[in-house]
Amino acid sequence: MRLAEGIVTTRGGMTSHTAVVARGWGLPAVVGVEDLRVNVDHAMIGGHRLEPGDRVSLDGGTGEVLVGNLEVSSVEVTPELATLLSWADEIRIGRVGVRANADTGADAERARAFGAEGIGLCRTEHMFLGDRLPLVQRFIDADGGPDEADSLAALGQAQRADLAAVLTAMAPHPVTVRLLDAPLHEFAGGTGSTEWAEHNPMLGTRGVRLAVLREDLYRMQTRAVLGALADVRAAGCTPRAEIMVPMVTEPAELALVRSWLEEEIAASSESIQVGTMIETPRAALAAGMVALHADFFSFGTNDLTQLVFGFSRDDVERKIMTPYLELGLLEANPFEILDATVVAPLVASAVTAGRAVRPELPVGVCGEHGGDPTSIRYLVAAGVDYVSCSPFRVPVARLAVAQALLDIED
Ligand code: PEP
Ligand code: MG
Repeated sequence: MRLAEGIVTTRGGMTSHTAVVARGWGLPAVVGVEDLRVNVDHAMIGGHRLEPGDRVSLDGGTGEVLVGNLEVSSVEVTPELATLLSWADEIRIGRVGVRANADTGADAERARAFGAEGIGLCRTEHMFLGDRLPLVQRFIDADGGPDEADSLAALGQAQRADLAAVLTAMAPHPVTVRLLDAPLHEFAGGTGSTEWAEHNPMLGTRGVRLAVLREDLYRMQTRAVLGALADVRAAGCTPRAEIMVPMVTEPAELALVRSWLEEEIAASSESIQVGTMIETPRAALAAGMVALHADFFSFGTNDLTQLVFGFSRDDVERKIMTPYLELGLLEANPFEILDATVVAPLVASAVTAGRAVRPELPVGVCGEHGGDPTSIRYLVAAGVDYVSCSPFRVPVARLAVAQALLDIED
């Protein structure tokens, strides 16, 4: 992906992790192209035969793959747009923030240039792809055995350096570090390990569940955050980090894991907020109890949508979504625009329940909906404190948040 100018896949959906990474990097990606067939020496798509070297043009926004080399241009922030966004910021700042989802120092710098006021989601598993993949695979295969400590130490070292780059780029704004949420099929493949293979990896040992089984994992990550904070401060910056636990379904899960994190934090001189993602229906419905153990909430509306609908993020757009939209069974793709009937009210009720327990509870949104104007309207109405989206969507989000605030006042 790092080398590609654009990406077309036969599988996946709008919020598959590949698509999410592509959006974060500003790469045009068209995913889940059902009639794409890739053969040894050619590809077939929409009745066209493509030979090696043939050019296609992609529109990642509309999902179009166009034969030929179309002229493209880069969108620039014109002075007029800059003025408009400054008006939007006047309305918005101090009321609803806009952060970015970014995982590297370079992405964080870009997000900042687009006007992000922090990072709402730093997906640490993305730091473990590419040449880091063998380190994760080694950890998975260690399975609590003798290699566990060494493999974690290697991961921790890599993580500390990566986090330091992100914290430096964003200082003094906050960076919400999301502890590992690795759908294991994205990582375990190729290890030869069948022990951890799952039939439904998106419903498997994700997020906090793997952490419960492998206690040292989140401890290591917490130490990496603490170490990175110390490194960045020693270099003269004023970094700010928050730690976020993913895929919580049960308040006791969060309480258990948090007690481990607090031990690591207590052993340092830092004080860090520990919050949770609200991305399972159970956590959303039990938000009041979850809030007892969380310093902040961040809604993961990608998984929340997947789990409320029972639609696989990775598969539903391939066969089901288009006919459902054509038949009018769905008004819009709920992975693109937050479902107004159930998911948006669920978010609103979870915000209310959380704040009934902790009146000052900070609440953010870090699913892809955080960059979609229609969804932003629902989220601002639900009372969130910030939305977080891919760096390239930050300007749109700044405008949409201001418009939503004006609408609410009307
Ligand atoms: C989400 O589920 O909305 C989220 C932000 O987490 P991820 O996309 O990494 O699963
Ligand atoms: Mg998620």
